[in-house]
Amino acid sequence: MGLISYLKNKWGKKSDNDTKKYSQGLQKSRQNFSSKLKNLSARYKTVNQEYFEELEQILIESDVGISLTLNIIEEVLQRSKQEHISDPEQINEILVDRMFLGYASKGDIQNELSFVEGIPTVLLVVGVNGVGKTTTIAKLAYRYIQKGKKVLLVAGDTFRAGATEQLSIWAERLGIDIVTGASEADPASVAYDGMRKAKESHCDLVIVDTAGRLQTKANLMAELAKIKRVMSKEIADAPQETFLIIDATTGQNGVIQAKAFAEVTNLTGVVITKMDGTSKGGIILAIRDELGVPVRFIGLGEKMDDLTEFDLDKYLYGLCVEDE
Ligand code: GDP
Repeated sequence: MGLISYLKNKWGKKSDNDTKKYSQGLQKSRQNFSSKLKNLSARYKTVNQEYFEELEQILIESDVGISLTLNIIEEVLQRSKQEHISDPEQINEILVDRMFLGYASKGDIQNELSFVEGIPTVLLVVGVNGVGKTTTIAKLAYRYIQKGKKVLLVAGDTFRAGATEQLSIWAERLGIDIVTGASEADPASVAYDGMRKAKESHCDLVIVDTAGRLQTKANLMAELAKIKRVMSKEIADAPQETFLIIDATTGQNGVIQAKAFAEVTNLTGVVITKMDGTSKGGIILAIRDELGVPVRFIGLGEKMDDLTEFDLDKYLYGLCVEDE
């Protein structure tokens, strides 16, 4: 049984909230990707050179990225030759299998944050302005508050006017504490205060916002290194996690941002926001392929509970399986 049939069997009949959310959130991407795929296979009785060229185009238009697309197409082409497969439907099955394996083969993934009794888990959040960083921090805080964790926010983006205020509003709405600094204060000093407060008040999770300036790589690298140094002095191993926030609607620009951040700091995860607002859901595969870093959560809307743990099966189902 191919992956598409497997996914249909596994998720097609499920109506739990998470599966529904994936399907709804990925509707635009699905309309783009799976209907193009279906349309393509309907136009060809057997596959040929043109078929593969059109398939390549569909992947590129879905933001899977050029290099990954070329690799995928080459492998699907080889398999079709070796196994003498010329039926377009079967080729599409092989394609989705390859998309799955390309992601999964890069190692096991635990998306949820881990907690050690008595030691705060520190999550450093990086990303450029406008990608949905503040909202995602609030969503993550909300997620772990729901799980019974004591969460603290640290407003380390002292550079952007309004960033601290915006995060403070979220802290108030969520009913949690926030550590802030003066405008243009050294982010490392705010991070230091945050670590002290986290220890004093026995927090489980500290989410530290940072400024998203990418203009000068050396400065950003130095700034993030300093923040990390200061934090690890107070809490050994902090930050245990560093998440990069990427806006799915920015397409390949998002992949370029991800590469730039990966060069200056050690990322442990990526959160892709606004998946509901893009028709090009392939960015998840491109990020994983180019960076090797897993996508841990995805944003599927503006509400607090519109942040979902990334699940490869559900994602591919949401992307590839056409609405009946
Ligand atoms: P920041 O400048 O990176 O901190 O961005 P904000 O958190 O202020 O978010 C910018 C806009 O994106 C806001 O209007 C958010 O509601 C919206 N946004 C964030 N995440 C998502 C998402 O997953 N889906 C949708 N549709 N909108 C989102």
